[in-house]
Amino acid sequence: MVCRAILKYVLECCLSGTGHSEIKAGYVGCGSYYARTIGYPVRQPIAESSLRSRPFLESAKMKNLLLGQLGQDDFSRLEPYLKTMPFTQHSVLFEAEREIEHVYFPTTAVVSLVVTLESGDMVEAAMVGSDGVVGASAALDGRISLSLGVVQLGGDIVVCSIEGLKSAALQSPKLLSLLIRHEQTVYAQAQQSAACFASHHVQARLCRWLLRARDLAGTDTLPFTQDYLAEMLGVRRTSVTVVAHTLQSAGLIKYARGKIQIRDVEALQDGACECYGSVKRHYARLLGKPAK
Ligand SMILES: [Zn+2]
Repeated sequence: MVCRAILKYVLECCLSGTGHSEIKAGYVGCGSYYARTIGYPVRQPIAESSLRSRPFLESAKMKNLLLGQLGQDDFSRLEPYLKTMPFTQHSVLFEAEREIEHVYFPTTAVVSLVVTLESGDMVEAAMVGSDGVVGASAALDGRISLSLGVVQLGGDIVVCSIEGLKSAALQSPKLLSLLIRHEQTVYAQAQQSAACFASHHVQARLCRWLLRARDLAGTDTLPFTQDYLAEMLGVRRTSVTVVAHTLQSAGLIKYARGKIQIRDVEALQDGACECYGSVKRHYARLLGKPAK
């Protein structure tokens, strides 16, 4: 059933692009992890003028792969529609089957695109950070969200209006091409997730997931509980407990008080399934990001 949901997501991505809706924090799903995170603040009290200031945005441009690839003309067209905003972990950016209202370019935050099932179970289909954008399909006329978007790791995101991005893309074939190629990378991630779920062992999948999160977060210490990891991987918590214990005993990670410290990256790479490398190659090919 879970595999069917992921495959449905993949097909919908292929047909319509990924889509996302409004900036909000709160309830999503029934009995899910995020249903227990109602009330997380979305935005810290920072002056509007600062959020839109040129130093803020120029700094953000350097931190996001897509914004960083824009020429000065394209960035100047977008700039009036951009502002940098801090988001806390577990903030919900948009819900499935809701109209999209904003586009998000993460700089230090990491976002998960998640498929939610009727049972309340959830599985991550893709992870996007400073190497991408979420909600951009809205600027390509895919206004209805097909997945839940939730902040996996808190940090800053450059928020853009849909109309602003759409207007800029219509004036720039280069920007339009970049957005389409990025949607392909998200689609490729979702495809890989479906194959991974169906074919690879939980331990290899957890290694892959931790490496991807580490790459995007830029840190070896990740604030994830075992409950959260179980939901993202679509497995039972007991499975994650067993696998985390195995990895810790082998010296690959250290797990304590809801935080995972990665202690041996090379060993973790050796233990990860092929999907980790496959996704990196897709990004390198489609967006020019060097595969490490
Ligand atoms: Zn895999």
